[in-house]
Amino acid sequence: MERATEATTTILEVRCVSCGKGFSSGKPLGTCPDCGSILSCRYDYEKAKETLTREGLRGRQKSLWRYREVLPDIAPPNVVTLGEGMTPIVTLMSGLLLKDDGLIPTGTFKARGMAVAVSKAKDLGLTKLVVPSAGNAGAALACYAARGGLAARVFMPTETPQSIVKECVQFGAEVVQVDGNIGDAGARMRTQIDGYFDMSTLKEPYRLEGKKTMGYEIAEQTGFELPGAIVYPTGGGTGLLGMWKAFDELEKLGLIGNERPRMFSVQSEACAPIVASFAAGKDVPDPDYPDGTTVAVGLRVPRPFAGRQMVSVLRASKGGAISVSDSEILGAMKALAGEGVFACPEGAATLAGYQRLLDAGSIARSEKVLLYNTGTGLKYLDLVRRTPNSRQGFIV
Ligand SMILES: *Cc1c(COP(=O)(O)O)cnc(C)c1O
Ligand SMILES: [Zn+2]
Repeated sequence: MERATEATTTILEVRCVSCGKGFSSGKPLGTCPDCGSILSCRYDYEKAKETLTREGLRGRQKSLWRYREVLPDIAPPNVVTLGEGMTPIVTLMSGLLLKDDGLIPTGTFKARGMAVAVSKAKDLGLTKLVVPSAGNAGAALACYAARGGLAARVFMPTETPQSIVKECVQFGAEVVQVDGNIGDAGARMRTQIDGYFDMSTLKEPYRLEGKKTMGYEIAEQTGFELPGAIVYPTGGGTGLLGMWKAFDELEKLGLIGNERPRMFSVQSEACAPIVASFAAGKDVPDPDYPDGTTVAVGLRVPRPFAGRQMVSVLRASKGGAISVSDSEILGAMKALAGEGVFACPEGAATLAGYQRLLDAGSIARSEKVLLYNTGTGLKYLDLVRRTPNSRQGFIV
């Protein structure tokens, strides 16, 4: 049930993470007009602290909108929602925790970012939204645009699974398929902008605000005793940066201390720019990092816009980055299915990555570790095959 919002935003401004210039959230924003860097919302944490408390959270709506004090200013009638958020954390047989965003509208965590960003766009009077996407961000945009009565256009690589392309079409979005990767899709989008507002990853400030609720929920659902490590499948980086922002804000709100989980990025061996730059001790991923295809299409981001910020979070948290092969990913999908979790390949990559981190001694078996399943395997049915003469499914 949607309820009247219990609290109101305490947003102060939207600030450039590089040059520090501040902007009002009252008009549409992209990247910093002065230096081109990422813009990030800043709130009045002292004020938010008065109502955003453990007790204050009890009984609030079971969606990400429960953290209203630290979400952007959106007039309640413009909030576009399907009840997203507060997904379960399940305990696997091994004792690992798995946060399952397969159980959210559109079946992936991309819904979090788009719910907030589309709401804010609607509040600002924008009517036409566009995104280049490996698939799931496009589907989430299409979904929330439909819900909010806005027009959506999505530029996707031709390799995007048909189920996701059809999902966008079903929601009424216009789909343009582009030969190449998400970067090529973005380049094509910019030649055909046609008055549409660009919702690209970290090129507008509000998807990050939706994504950061992953960190708020992990904290709240673990009784504010954060896990020792979080293993996360990394593509464009909003999940990683969003959770890190959440932990910083939670400390400002007095809900946690200065402890932080160690953050580990998992990427595909075919496309692992963050793993490569982390291992080489570089601050910024190689701008010419080669493209490569993987079953985990959401992780195919060879040149992430926020590469520098991602590497810096991994270092600051004393975490790391690891890559896994497609066959390890498919094996991990099967293993999770054996426990009733039909994870997407990107989410399953965290289990494969965890195994490698254990083997490398980077994580101890005794540590409290949370894997983040970013979506459902039901969107990737082409990865599942059945042998002709057997009822036993297997994965190729
Ligand atoms: C987009 C996507 C990712 C990568 O997420 P970022 O937070 O942008 O790094 C992981 N898993 C799935 C299913 C995705 O769609
Ligand atoms: Zn700037």
